[in-house]
Amino acid sequence: MPRPIVATIDRAALSHNLDVARSLTTGARTWAVVKADAYGHGVVTAASAFADADGLALIEIENAIRLRESGWKKPILLLEGCFSSLDWHAAAEHRLSVVIHSDEQLSEFEATPLARKLDVFLKFNTGMNRLGFRIERARDVAARAERHEGTGEITLMTHFACADEPGGHVDALVRFNEATAGLPYARSLANSAACFDFGRVGAGGSASTGQQGWVRPGIMLYGATPFSHASRSAMSLKLKPAMTVTTEVIAVQSLKPGERVGYGATYTAKRDERIAVIACGYADGYPRHAPSGTPVLVDGQRAPIAGRVSMDKITVDVTDVPLARVGSQVQLWGDRLAVDEVANAAGTIGYELLTAVAARVPRRAV
Ligand SMILES: *Cc1c(COP(=O)(O)O)cnc(C)c1O
Repeated sequence: MPRPIVATIDRAALSHNLDVARSLTTGARTWAVVKADAYGHGVVTAASAFADADGLALIEIENAIRLRESGWKKPILLLEGCFSSLDWHAAAEHRLSVVIHSDEQLSEFEATPLARKLDVFLKFNTGMNRLGFRIERARDVAARAERHEGTGEITLMTHFACADEPGGHVDALVRFNEATAGLPYARSLANSAACFDFGRVGAGGSASTGQQGWVRPGIMLYGATPFSHASRSAMSLKLKPAMTVTTEVIAVQSLKPGERVGYGATYTAKRDERIAVIACGYADGYPRHAPSGTPVLVDGQRAPIAGRVSMDKITVDVTDVPLARVGSQVQLWGDRLAVDEVANAAGTIGYELLTAVAARVPRRAV
């Protein structure tokens, strides 16, 4: 028997969340972002649920090629572009669109003769100061890309640093719009958070060519919130959780008051307590820094973890779940316990928990 831990991936939830993104952003084309193995959900599974997207966007060229081999025919965008000349040739061979974010990439593009033209997304820095040409250079960089005979369609792109805060993208948007005013290209601006503020961000179409702009929702497609504020939970945004991680109780210990649990003996029983040991640990991707009190569901009832998360096991206080026993079903997060709530208790964000689920946890798509 394999260990009882499994991540169940709900294709209908993925498709529903894509519908939410598309209905928020009518007038724009949608890149469904599937980097990091579709935020831990599996790229091929995710692609099958995202058949209505206009394209898939990711970082990893090997997954882009897998998607082509699995039959995805619509556009695919490499969000960090190419890392070597091999990548440029592979991008041409597999008809990938590429981000160009630096002078080094642009020069390499110009110097590499390719079998076909590539659609390019010129990425500009509007304050994140991570990747992208300085926004003041928008006209020059676009003109240079336009002159290169290997360039297909051009799109102007930026990534907001603060779209998850109220009005947080406004400064960046103003700078972007000023610097690119009048340029005859479509735009790609919105991540998940900005999709929820689409009225202000805009569809990013090109007035002169009629080309539609592109939005780039990621986390929302997986049913987690892009926002940190509790008032904007995934449920309140009408998103459905797409990953449910479940396991089982594999042992139960009875403790007397004053007895302790786990590495470092960080948890002390305050009363006669029943401690369930569950088959999941940090080697499965559960955060080791989740403190005592972080919730799990045991037989559908909330119970707090007690003591340190170890590599393969977590201990849970089930004193108030009297029917809990070996074999009881446990949900770490998913359709009945929001990943964002667990992340919040552990001092992180849903993105990190979803993408950290380890390769040893089998994914089961339903
Ligand atoms: C990851 C990523 C996105 C998606 O961001 P979410 O916050 O998950 O919606 C969009 N654009 C770029 C460039 C990204 O790297």
